Amino acid sequence: MDNGQLTVITADHTLAVPLLRAGEIVALPTETVYGLSGSALDESAIGKIFAAKNRPQDNPLIVHVSGIEMVRDLGLELPPLAEKLAEAFWPGTLTMVLPRGANCPIPAGVSCGLDTVAVRVPNNAIFLEVINDTMCPLAAPSANLSGRPSPTTARHVYEDLQGRIPLIIDGGACSCGIESTVVMFDAGRIQILRPGAITAEMLSAFGEVVANTGESPRSPGTRYKHYSPKARVVVYEGDIPPKAAGESCFVIANPDTQTLFAKFREFDESGAKEIYVKLPEQSGVGAALYNRIMKAAGL
Ligand code: AMP
Ligand code: MG
Repeated sequence: MDNGQLTVITADHTLAVPLLRAGEIVALPTETVYGLSGSALDESAIGKIFAAKNRPQDNPLIVHVSGIEMVRDLGLELPPLAEKLAEAFWPGTLTMVLPRGANCPIPAGVSCGLDTVAVRVPNNAIFLEVINDTMCPLAAPSANLSGRPSPTTARHVYEDLQGRIPLIIDGGACSCGIESTVVMFDAGRIQILRPGAITAEMLSAFGEVVANTGESPRSPGTRYKHYSPKARVVVYEGDIPPKAAGESCFVIANPDTQTLFAKFREFDESGAKEIYVKLPEQSGVGAALYNRIMKAAGL
């Protein structure tokens, strides 16, 4: 909720550390999108994250760690396939959903009561330094209001969360610009719960890959309408449709991961009623873009 607090934006990430240690929440840059971080070991910080974002209570958070040692310290189960993927893709845009194990200290609220926890090592020097300085795994969903396009600059975070959080660390525009690939392991196969910049093609070098296409996805967050600008998103294939020349209509003819969400926000500010977006080929990172565009269109 907006509790009227002053929201500071600064490039000085050392200011995040005492706040996080005191159970506060802070927006931090990652290479995917900005994250709203709090101690993954502190139930009250987790509650603050859900409240500030208006996040549905059944949409679990990704826990950000400094390396595979921290995953082991948390008691999470690491199948051999997960170790191989960690070696190949961490730090980077791969999130792995792992069984909790017997003595995991992460409160149930982080993963909404599931018997798994999602973990990732972000490839961002600021974020990694903050994890190391706090000596704490940090839960961090995207730092937007739920349902809004994910934030790829500190200003996007401020637009959504001013008055709701004390601090935003400005690390510039995110280099990747789209949320991480989320995978889990199923009888030795890699199941993609959410496509991202680490593609099915890249993962298939390590084992059989299956996409999550079921009616009740195992990744609860993928159920919700997401990433939406205020304007109506209309998808098209082939040539730009004539209707796109109408008043207050905008076109994204060559969508890419780095600018998609920023353009949604920019066109909203320009008073867009409709945004026409060309659907990309679904190969490589195109699969992730396609997924976000369809969700933004409510399809
Ligand atoms: P966000 O951090 O906002 O990009 O969303 C995190 C994504 O990871 C959502 O789609 C969640 O549903 C998914 N996720 C987080 N934890 C788990 C988990 N334990 N099992 C399955 N999916 C998860
Ligand atoms: Mg999100």
